[in-house]
Amino acid sequence: MDQQVKFNTDLIKRYDVAGPRYTSYPTAVQFIEGFDANAYRRYTTASNNELIPKPLSVYVHLPFCHSLCYYCGCTKKVTRHAEQGVRYLELLNLEIEMQGKLFDKDREVEQLHFGGGTPTFHTDEQMSVLMAQLNRHFALSDSDTREYSIEVDPRTVGNDRLAKLAELGFNRISLGVQDIDPKVQQAVNRIQDPQATLDMVDGSRKLGFNSVSIDLIYGLPHQTSDSFGKTIDTVVAVKPDRLAVYNYAHMPHIFRAQRMINADDIPSPEIKLELMELTIRKLTDAGYVYIGMDHFALPEDELTIAQKEGHLQRNFQGYSTRRQCDLVGLGVSAIGKVGDCYAQNQKDIPSWQNAVSDGRLPIWRGVCLTTEDRLRRGIIESIMCHGEVHFDDFEANFDIDFNDHFALELGHLQQLEKDGLLKTTESGFIATPEGRLLLRAIAMNFDEYLHTKQSKVPRFSRVI
Ligand code: SF4
Repeated sequence: MDQQVKFNTDLIKRYDVAGPRYTSYPTAVQFIEGFDANAYRRYTTASNNELIPKPLSVYVHLPFCHSLCYYCGCTKKVTRHAEQGVRYLELLNLEIEMQGKLFDKDREVEQLHFGGGTPTFHTDEQMSVLMAQLNRHFALSDSDTREYSIEVDPRTVGNDRLAKLAELGFNRISLGVQDIDPKVQQAVNRIQDPQATLDMVDGSRKLGFNSVSIDLIYGLPHQTSDSFGKTIDTVVAVKPDRLAVYNYAHMPHIFRAQRMINADDIPSPEIKLELMELTIRKLTDAGYVYIGMDHFALPEDELTIAQKEGHLQRNFQGYSTRRQCDLVGLGVSAIGKVGDCYAQNQKDIPSWQNAVSDGRLPIWRGVCLTTEDRLRRGIIESIMCHGEVHFDDFEANFDIDFNDHFALELGHLQQLEKDGLLKTTESGFIATPEGRLLLRAIAMNFDEYLHTKQSKVPRFSRVI
């Protein structure tokens, strides 16, 4: 596919609607509480009984943080009480044991991700115990091709702790930076020394980590093109393999922490557009490839290669390369994807704790995909990952005539084509370089649920 991208201010303004990020389809809004642990077990059993069972990807949610970042929309618990983390890990060990029993032991864990919260809230010793427990109940991989990643808060980790993480088997890190400007850091209550953070990129390479990703956010209070340009230049100078540059979506009615941000200090939509354009220009000039949504990667990175070769996937961490895996979610609020179901754990710590301490799988809700869901998931994933859809990829597998089945949706795409977001042919459609920045506006046309059950309060973020 063509990985070119082109910024078009008018188009972005016109298509700046609130919409899902499609880390799953159906999205989490469609998960239902009637989907319980028994339903989940049926899918795990069926996944073991497949002719060739899939390898596993395991996500572990560690929700504790030492302090509150005011922009935060994650499921987390801010505390200074280390004993809360100890209790959580004890119960997590029980959940690992329960979930481990559901999957055959020869199903290798090709991909492991520790996210949060702040995974490095926990001590090295606690991390060792956690990895040992995972190793006891799942077939952790020691292959060089494994992808074992951890989100690292540079305020809690130096190069000494990084060495320990490498020893435990992690070979990828993701560093939260967001912005290096002191005034911005102050306004979002996340003060961190930029140099110490950037030194970790070098440190991690020396320790053998084969991928470093850095997260930035644009649209934070007091950001200007000048200040954010400096942040990007500083980060690009150390050449991380991947960059995720998120748009700050101010939704204080949903995320309480954001009430601490003074809305008057947030850049106007015009400035946010400038910041977005600046980000794309600076990163592509520096040699990064735009993958989609908020993600950029070096040309030789696996994400870029997976996109070129057509096997990129969208999942709860954004974009990922291991399309062939079943995903096991562990810990509070974690979401798994096994066969054709999604299953989410209890979203608040007390409910999750109650279930696990009673010896019950802490499944809160989920969804079993219908054939129509699977068809639409495939189309939406193809748009989000590759910016294109080939009708014949779906016609044979789902026994449909694409033009008949999606006559309404294809009719809607005509306006997008007129506006320059995509080009259609007889056998499919492809996003233009301008349309690649508006992939979700294209994907939303194939979301069957979007127009049937809209809440009055916006649940989804906008592009700007
Ligand atoms: S942004 Fe990360 S470190 Fe900050 S409060 Fe949220 S989860 Fe914790």
